[in-house]
Amino acid sequence: MDLVDSHCHIAGPEFVNDLDDVIALAIAAGLTRALVILAADDQPELDQANTVASRWSGVRFSIGVHPHAAGKFSTEPAAAARAVSAAIDVQPLTRGLGEIGLDYHYDFSPRDVQQAVFRSQIGLARERRLPIVIHTREADDDTFRILAEEKASDGPVILHCFTGDRGVARRALDAGYYLSLAGIVTFPRALELQEVARLVPLNRLLVETDSPYLAPPPHRGKRNEPAHVSRVAEVIAELKGVSHDEVAFATAENFVRIFAP
Ligand SMILES: [Zn+2]
Ligand SMILES: [Zn+2]
Repeated sequence: MDLVDSHCHIAGPEFVNDLDDVIALAIAAGLTRALVILAADDQPELDQANTVASRWSGVRFSIGVHPHAAGKFSTEPAAAARAVSAAIDVQPLTRGLGEIGLDYHYDFSPRDVQQAVFRSQIGLARERRLPIVIHTREADDDTFRILAEEKASDGPVILHCFTGDRGVARRALDAGYYLSLAGIVTFPRALELQEVARLVPLNRLLVETDSPYLAPPPHRGKRNEPAHVSRVAEVIAELKGVSHDEVAFATAENFVRIFAP
């Protein structure tokens, strides 16, 4: 077994008190690696990243300014990219840029600011030759358009916690992007997403938890943690009619190819 959680936030405050237990459970569940997302505008999280790395050698980082925080950079969107760049400079285990993107569901930041902050960070990712981890919610058209305009697919692009329908999935695959599926695929009523899981080729698939968010049943409503990525892989394996090991192996292989950990 070689299982990877391709997106989690275990450097956040939710994991400070029992980090060792969370990591031990992840390793016991077969996880060999995890990509931990850091917010460039969150200094305590950037500091905690060093603690996380000292406890688990399988950890790598991806750093970005989330669309929710884009408003902090409304007067100068390019400052978001500078903040990310500075955080990358002091974190040698950085292997990705993100999560970045657009969130029109919550609209915590004005949309034009979200777009400008998103663009500035795609530019930085190309400059640094880092894969891009995308967060997009109810903003598919603008996300695809901006990614194309900024020539994001010069390098790997990952749509994290993918929740689009089959049409959006095909559009993403045609653009060369990877789809990362989270625990939502295990929810009984996520029928469309289960169809997406069937259609995405194994060599374009990643699995994630987005911990502490999105705990799969029977843990729904509680804090999520990386160990539960095993359940995500298991459900995808059932949907695809392949073995759990095959999903684990393929997604781990993709992770290594994309992030060169
Ligand atoms: Zn996200
Ligand atoms: Zn996330």
